[in-house]
Amino acid sequence: MQDYPNSYYIDSLDRNLIQHPSLLDSLECDLCIIGGGFTGLSTAIEASKKGLKVILLEQNKIAWGASGRNGGQIGIDISSGVQNLEKKYGFETVKNLWNVSLDAVKLIDQRIDEFKIQCDKKTGNLSVATNHSTVKDFESEIDYYQNKLDYHSTRILTRDEVTEAVGSNRYFGGHLQKDGGHLHPLKYALGLADAALSMNVNIYEDSKVIKINEKKNYVEVLTSNGSVKAKNIALCCNAYLEEIDAGIKSKIMPIINYMIATKPISNDLQKTILPSDYCVCDTNFDLNYYRLSSDKRMIFGGGVSYSLKHSEKLAKRTEQRMLKVFPSLSKEKAEYIWGGYVGITVNRTPDIGQTSSRIFYAHGFSGHGVALTGIAGKIIANSIFSGEKGALETFEKIKHKNFPGGRLFRMPLLVTISALQRMTDIFNA
Ligand SMILES: Cc1cc2nc3c(=O)[nH]c(=O)nc-3n(C[C@H](O)[C@H](O)[C@H](O)COP(=O)(O)OP(=O)(O)OC[C@H]3O[C@@H](n4cnc5c(N)ncnc54)[C@H](O)[C@@H]3O)c2cc1C
Repeated sequence: MQDYPNSYYIDSLDRNLIQHPSLLDSLECDLCIIGGGFTGLSTAIEASKKGLKVILLEQNKIAWGASGRNGGQIGIDISSGVQNLEKKYGFETVKNLWNVSLDAVKLIDQRIDEFKIQCDKKTGNLSVATNHSTVKDFESEIDYYQNKLDYHSTRILTRDEVTEAVGSNRYFGGHLQKDGGHLHPLKYALGLADAALSMNVNIYEDSKVIKINEKKNYVEVLTSNGSVKAKNIALCCNAYLEEIDAGIKSKIMPIINYMIATKPISNDLQKTILPSDYCVCDTNFDLNYYRLSSDKRMIFGGGVSYSLKHSEKLAKRTEQRMLKVFPSLSKEKAEYIWGGYVGITVNRTPDIGQTSSRIFYAHGFSGHGVALTGIAGKIIANSIFSGEKGALETFEKIKHKNFPGGRLFRMPLLVTISALQRMTDIFNA
């Protein structure tokens, strides 16, 4: 079993970690969930609310994967932008996806409220334009939101307004999502796990699933030391899915993204660096995303890599990216660096569905999973409980292509594409 990476998130927990047992028995349940990140935990909560007997198996620790390592940024919409799907799938599908994405953002606040989760949640998510043409893209996006989706909680920020909100004069304009925001992802995930436990979900850590066998009336799930006989299973492994496949693995590509956290920035600088306390994401393909933690550290992410082996070099590279945005942070060094797998699909739309009547899955949130994972779990649980597709049907309409090659080939391919795209970012700037 692997422990949590050495991140700011693990060091800033103000609670003890609960040790969940490893599975050593043969058990039975209505729903066996594989993967203890946001998706698995959300599915567990919703299924348990409906009275299903739920077992959750995590190969390492709860939220050991992307859910305990991410940027914590909560955004509306999906990664590809719903409007880009209208031509192919029609407006009704777009509207349904859009409503799901808004529900996803609301669900976070509902859960924080319902389960009293202390996770440093803040409001406001700002996309910033690194060139003039992107401001035009923002305008057309907002026009679509307002005039087609009747949604009015976003607005354009002028260049001056962005400079004031961010504390950097690097950007040409911005798109502010008032319903978006940010949180401490590991605190949030552990809060969800507490909630699941309180609802009698049986959580097992150090319980890697090595095989699933679908039988006529149930699915058998095998770990090295135990097994579960379940009426249904939910595969919630996202980019960490390795041994088991069930035919969904090539629909997503795992890419390593990494982040740094500085020491708390000095009091003088706090007035000028991100005074809005929004989270920010720029519009480059090879994007920068950042925010302040509750103790005023700069948490800065971006950059794709094959591995995290050369962490000092990666930390330097990220510091340099940070300094381009905030030259005044020249004395703030990275105190932490960590990385994790982001699962992306070819069309940057989440892939949520069923491989058979008993096997459900959700993955490929494409860097937009803090909110969408929660609703994905709810959709899966509703579908299992009711026996009807419900919102799952909307996602099943979206066709997902396979990435070429195996895991080893897909990673270099992505890094090459990113390098080429980075050049475009430079020329467009
Ligand atoms: C560095 C980084 C920054 C990110 N920033 C953002 C952001 O700012 N905003 C945003 O919206 N999204 C962001 N994301 C993406 C977001 O974190 C993910 O979309 C989301 O956490 C996915 O949750 P999940 O539960 O589906 O998967 P994960 O959290 O990855 O959980 C999957 C779990 O499955 C377990 N597992 C895998 N195989 C097995 C097995 N065989 N048996 C048992 N367990 C298994 C893994 O150990 C893992 O814990 C970021 C991701 C990364 C890596």
